[in-house]
Amino acid sequence: MTIDKTAIVTGASSGIGQATAKELAAKGYHVLLAARREERLVELKKEIERDGGSADYRVTDVTSADEMKALVEAGLEKTGKIDVLVNNAGLMPLSFMNKLKVDEWDRMVDVNIKGVLYGIAAVLPVMEKQKFGHILNVSSVAGHSVSKGSAVYSGTKFAVRAISEGLRQEIDPSHEIRVTIVSPGAVETELTSTITDEDVLTAFKQGGEMKMLQALDIANAIAYAVEQPAHVDVNEILIRPRQQP
Ligand code: NDP
Repeated sequence: MTIDKTAIVTGASSGIGQATAKELAAKGYHVLLAARREERLVELKKEIERDGGSADYRVTDVTSADEMKALVEAGLEKTGKIDVLVNNAGLMPLSFMNKLKVDEWDRMVDVNIKGVLYGIAAVLPVMEKQKFGHILNVSSVAGHSVSKGSAVYSGTKFAVRAISEGLRQEIDPSHEIRVTIVSPGAVETELTSTITDEDVLTAFKQGGEMKMLQALDIANAIAYAVEQPAHVDVNEILIRPRQQP
C-alpha cells in the first residue's frame, strides 16, 4: 500500500480515537496517534502495523499549545503534509452544578475546548500553506441539547460546534480545506469513567436499556466524511443509537 496521506488523531489511546486511527490506517493514511497514555499508543501502533498499516505516536497533552504544535510538526515528517486532523480528545465528568466541581469544569474547558483550539492553531497555518486539509472536531449530541448534569460538558460541546462553524465560514474559498463537526450520541467507551458525581451515576443506572453505538460506528462516519471528493464538505454528522431519545 502506498502511503501518501497523513492523519493525526488526538485521544487515540481509547474509544472513538482508537477506532478512528485504525479505520484511517486501513484506508491508507499514515496515522499519527496522540494521547497521554504511552503504553496504549505503543500497542495501537503495533496493531496497525500488524494489519499492514502505517502509524507512529507522540505522547501529547492537548491542553498544551506547545505540545500540539510539536505534534503537528511531527505529523509532517512522513509525507510532508497533513491531510486530516481529528480533534477527538475529550472528557465528560458530568455533575450537577450545585456540587461545585470547579476542578472538573476547568478540566473540561481545558481539554474539550482549548484542546480543540490548540489543534486548530497548530494545523491551520500548515493547511493554509498547503491549501488543503480536513479538520474534524468531535462535539456531541450534548452539543445540541442540554440535560440535567450536562451543563458544563454541553457548554464545551456547544463551543466546539460554534468554533468549527466559525472556522468553516472563514476558510478561504480558493483553498480545499474542510471542517466537519462529529456529534455522536451514546457510544460504548471509557468516557463515563470520569464521572464522580454519585447522583449522576445513579441517574445513569436508572436509565433504560439501550443498544449503544460502538466506537467503530463513529470511525466509519469520520472515514465517510474524509473520503468525500474535495468539493464536498460534510459539515456535521449527528449520529445517535437508534433507541436514543
Ligand atoms: P474515551 O474516554 O474512550 O477516550 C477519550 C480520549 O481522550 C482518550 O484517548 C484520552 O487519552 C484522551 N484525552 C483525555 N484527556 C486528554 C488530554 N489532556 N490530552 C490528550 N488526550 C486526552 O472516550 P470517547 O472515545 O468516548 O471520547 C472521544 C470523544 O468523543 C470525546 O471528545 C467525547 O466527548 C466525545 N463523545 C463521546 C461520546 C460517547 O458516548 N462516548 C458521545 C459524544 C461525544 P489519554 O487519557 O491517554 O490522554
